[in-house]
Amino acid sequence: MNSRIPLFAANWKMNKRIADVSPFMVKLNQGLQKLSKKAGSDFEVVIGPSATHLAAASQAVQGTPIELAAQNCGHAKSGAFTGEISPEAIKELHCPWVILGHSERRHLYLEDNGLVLRRLKAAWEEGLKVILCVGETLPQRKSQQTTKVVEEQLQILKGFSPSQENLVIAYEPVWAIGTGENATPDQAQEVHAFIRGWLKQVFSLSLSENTRILYGGSVKPENSKDLMGKPDVDGFLVGGASLEAESFLGIIENGLKSRG
Ligand code: PEP
Repeated sequence: MNSRIPLFAANWKMNKRIADVSPFMVKLNQGLQKLSKKAGSDFEVVIGPSATHLAAASQAVQGTPIELAAQNCGHAKSGAFTGEISPEAIKELHCPWVILGHSERRHLYLEDNGLVLRRLKAAWEEGLKVILCVGETLPQRKSQQTTKVVEEQLQILKGFSPSQENLVIAYEPVWAIGTGENATPDQAQEVHAFIRGWLKQVFSLSLSENTRILYGGSVKPENSKDLMGKPDVDGFLVGGASLEAESFLGIIENGLKSRG
């Protein structure tokens, strides 16, 4: 029996005004209260606003089960790194999570595995929990390189001793992010099973069985039940459809239906 509690994480990217944060959290929390009664099983919710919104978000989630994630973090605790966000300050804002290696960071801002590794180290040194994003582009999938690319991205974990508490992996095929075209449940399952197998081979059976692997890429209320019906899909990292509390709640509700 594994201990993987379903996790639903939102990546707001560079969206929303700071003034939108509190009303969103109130609505989300109300919906979550109703859902927890209905669902009858445990689940966790993490919201990733822009760094500029974290202070307001931190106040807004007080007394709720909602946790926060930063969308990236600097590769050092502090220093002369203009434009970077210190993991120490993220922690200070009562934000326990950070998303690392998102495909927009990798492709638009040319963050390579080496840089993601340094960010990962800094995040873990500060005690942040990491959602590490991995995933292939369309040409890579078409040339059967999906597992090779995902494995290369996972390699940065070697040399650390990750735990089921401080690591979540998000499989996000680049071709599915923001495109409206999600991976099929079978496509997602295949890669999730590969990731789980890799964790077992490199670390341990226990880490492999207990680490949450999220799917991300055009998740919506209409497809969340089928995607989460797959045995290795433990939740989602959601972009566009997390911007409205109603649709994010719909994703959670339908996703949990697959768990009976
Ligand atoms: C993302 O940005 O992590 C994401 C999965 O986006 P979307 O849900 O909009 O495809």
